[in-house]
Amino acid sequence: MVKDKISRQIADALDPDYRNTNFEEVEQTFTKDQVMAEASRCINCKKPKCIDGCPVHIDIPGFINAIKEDDIEKAGRVIRESSLLPSICGRVCPQERQCEATCILGIKGTPVAIGALERYVGDLTDIEDSKIIPSGHKVAIIGSGPAGITAAADLARAGHKVVMYEALHALGGVLRYGIPEFRLPRNVLDRELDTLRKIGVELNTNVIVGKSITIKDLFEDGFEAIFIGAGAGLPWFMGIPGENLNGVYSANEFLTRVNLMRANQFPEYPTPVRLGKRAMVVGGGNTAMDGARVAKRLGYEEVTIAYRRSEAEMPARKAEIEHAKEEGINFLFLHSPIEVHGKDGQVIGTTLQVMELGEPDASGRRRPVPIKGKTIYKDIDTFVVAIGTSPNPLLTKSAKAEDLPLEVDRKGYLITEEETKQTTMKGIYAGGDISPTGDSNVINAMGAGKRAAQAITEYLKTLETAKA
Ligand code: FAD
Ligand code: SF4
Repeated sequence: MVKDKISRQIADALDPDYRNTNFEEVEQTFTKDQVMAEASRCINCKKPKCIDGCPVHIDIPGFINAIKEDDIEKAGRVIRESSLLPSICGRVCPQERQCEATCILGIKGTPVAIGALERYVGDLTDIEDSKIIPSGHKVAIIGSGPAGITAAADLARAGHKVVMYEALHALGGVLRYGIPEFRLPRNVLDRELDTLRKIGVELNTNVIVGKSITIKDLFEDGFEAIFIGAGAGLPWFMGIPGENLNGVYSANEFLTRVNLMRANQFPEYPTPVRLGKRAMVVGGGNTAMDGARVAKRLGYEEVTIAYRRSEAEMPARKAEIEHAKEEGINFLFLHSPIEVHGKDGQVIGTTLQVMELGEPDASGRRRPVPIKGKTIYKDIDTFVVAIGTSPNPLLTKSAKAEDLPLEVDRKGYLITEEETKQTTMKGIYAGGDISPTGDSNVINAMGAGKRAAQAITEYLKTLETAKA
């Protein structure tokens, strides 16, 4: 029987009333005592299921053993063999559905707090200098989110000259413009991005591939392979009356204004954002939680999340749902807006359909079904839609215009081979949200970047053989 005598350690968090007034990081890092106590809970399983639960297969018992030996540097080395972003993953990965979901201690008790341990190690360690032997090959990376970062790092460490192109003026993808600072401080993100510079990746911002330059240009410039990690930044709207009113935002726009353009510091920074009293955020994922928690910090008196299913089906990280509740966000489960109302072009309210749960759908989750004739009305002045996104078609349209055989599915996702992430065009690979394998999240994007990097190196070797 698995013994679990020491309780799982819980990280401190800032007081909700205090954190609602600022963007300081909510959840604190474990203390050294907590780290040692938590590491001692790991029983070093012979067949560690936690590794299977991690999309990049970090040697979890390996790094926890190093913590037990009080060798944090070694723990950092073990993690970075598989993941370059431990400080980010430790903070934002949905561990409760991945490594911690498969941890053996979770069967009869509570799993090891793997994410919190990873974060602690990540924050205290850095990538070590290693001799990179140049391969003579040149690879381009499109997009600087977790998929692009991981592919770039692995390709650079394999000796290739790697050049990254990012459309925005700052690197990081959703880690920068989507996830707010109170979950992922920017100094943590910048530090992890610095790793790319250290290993020689050339970083270019303000370059939209498909507009500033094209894929053909990249091949003509001598790139032999391309990794596309351009994400899925095109927001969906609900298609209901009133979505064209002032005060309706996609969550992407709302969050980008604050996280990237610093609208919370307007007029010091020139991008404004609506500052109202009552906001409604629609959706049940991390994006909805972030939108709501940002609104609260902007000073909205009442922030409500409307979700068409029940709490049990919410795809957001459990910790974020809990934090949102602590911060006074209201939840309207089993409700879905059917109209946004306006006066003089401004949002003044919304009508919501009351739902119930029916039979499970293809995703295995129970389908929300409207209860006939049952609606409610709520006064609001801001309506934020966080119901999903799909890839921006700009890049793939430009590829089509260049007659490149880069195929997308009917929703606009790039078609790739599952294991290698090769697209339908030789030399081009894609991963992360633009061609998801499983859930769209940071660690799956990283896993895709990793597999693609390996496949690209293999592909480059075939080019050498062909030349010889
Ligand atoms: P992205 O992170 O989207 O990065 C793509 C980059 O490519 C962007 O910077 C974009 O500007 C750039 N780009 C696009 N087109 C071009 C072009 N033509 N030329 C050059 N550059 C281009 N996941 C978690 O695991 N945990 C969380 O807590 C979590 N919270 C989230 C909160 C929000 C608000 C959102 C939106 C997502 C969240 N996710 C979370 C999901 C996760 O962030 C994404 O799955 C992940 O970032 C996808 O990585 P990516 O590299 O594929 O793309
Ligand atoms: Fe340790 Fe849990 Fe992994 Fe076993 S499954 S090695 S207890 S973290």
